[in-house]
Amino acid sequence: MTAVASVTKLAERYCQEFSGSERLFREARGLFPAGVTHDARMMEPFPIYIERAKGSKKWDVDGHELIDYFVGHGALLLGHSPDDIVSAVQHQMACGTHYGSCHRLELEWGMLVRQLIPSAERIRFTSSGTEATLMALRLCRIFTGKPKFLKFQGHFHGWHDYVAVGSDYPYDSPTVLGVPDAVTALCVCVPPNDLNRVEDALRADPEIGAVILEPTGGHWGTVPIRGDFLRGLRELCDRWNRLLIFDEVITGFRISPGGAQAYYGVMPDLTSLAKILAGGLPGGCLAGREDILSYLEPRPGRPKMRHPGTYNANPLSAAAGVACLKRIATGEPCRAANEAGRMLRNQLNQMFESQGYPWVAYGDFSMIKVLPSYHGERPRPEAGDNDGLIPANGDLQILDGPKPSAMVTALRQGMLLHGVDWWGCAGMTSCEHTPADVERTVRAMDAAIAAMQAEGIA
Ligand code: PMP
Repeated sequence: MTAVASVTKLAERYCQEFSGSERLFREARGLFPAGVTHDARMMEPFPIYIERAKGSKKWDVDGHELIDYFVGHGALLLGHSPDDIVSAVQHQMACGTHYGSCHRLELEWGMLVRQLIPSAERIRFTSSGTEATLMALRLCRIFTGKPKFLKFQGHFHGWHDYVAVGSDYPYDSPTVLGVPDAVTALCVCVPPNDLNRVEDALRADPEIGAVILEPTGGHWGTVPIRGDFLRGLRELCDRWNRLLIFDEVITGFRISPGGAQAYYGVMPDLTSLAKILAGGLPGGCLAGREDILSYLEPRPGRPKMRHPGTYNANPLSAAAGVACLKRIATGEPCRAANEAGRMLRNQLNQMFESQGYPWVAYGDFSMIKVLPSYHGERPRPEAGDNDGLIPANGDLQILDGPKPSAMVTALRQGMLLHGVDWWGCAGMTSCEHTPADVERTVRAMDAAIAAMQAEGIA
């Protein structure tokens, strides 16, 4: 427990209200490092424990109903436990969970990916997004013969060694704890939204074979990227003969049924997908150009990249993924989630303004960010899905730098005490988030900030 957390009223109320979670966490601390199973679940003085979830809500072990903005780390565009996915998985469970063989559902799943993602000529399923970007980079090395790649500061591509450089603060550090220098040296990491820096790097280093990015901005749009940058990047990759990888693990099937590439009309060479792809079950894939993915095929006189993986295209994930993507294909879930996101950003900004709070809400599509200690102009209510003002001129250090931990903790506690599970300074909506949820969330944030100000935290 931090010094600040231990004396604040918010923290005291949090400890009283969520005592069931605290009891479970005491046990967990002796079992899991930091008591958790994912870094993002760490919370002072203890995280909440959830018992069940449905639609836009989840319920914790103390019986609180919480509007959820984690939405399965972005996997649940359709909300928690939608009936169509539940029955598809229940049916599949009885038919078998692992055949160790090919099966019809993987074919149907792959066909849906190809139908929705414009650049997907071929697909290989993996178990996670991390594995998909790992595969993308290895295939690029094989295809181009070039060992290095370029990524952007603040962009996250999973937790394997190659992509660890620049994904966490401080973004310009060339070293990563536990990753050999020989591996980090393969990554050239530059600031986002600066095409000149990209071109300089490609010109200077002929060993860079590929460029990878989160196409709407690092950490799902904390520093938003828009279409002009994507088009510029495509041109640069063509001019300098390098491959372009879109990591659409978050944006795929979220911002539009065909992801960022369909929305902006920019075709990457390879695309990593996960999360929504598998309808809330584990799963990922790499999709892209046939001539690149064909290095997974045995061909006379050509090398083949090996790719095993026990749970690739496992039948349960395939069943959930097929049910999910069929609904995504209608376009309605993306439309509804984007609408809820836009509504929430607008109403938060209106509330900040009327209450005189120096905060701003921004973000694109169904991704919402809030930034404290902000005195600049706010995006206007008429801003669409992705043309709102970017605060602080998109400054990486301001938008994606470390926030005071006492503030982040207090905001999270304050929101939970008012029935909202809000992710640090950000959240994502699903198609199940209603105008009533949005209203309740705005009231919760108002109350949380007021309580924080009363305690001198915000
Ligand atoms: N890429 C991006 C853009 C992600 O957001 C994530 C996960 N948050 C990953 C890759 C890694 O995916 P997974 O957690 O499935 O390994």
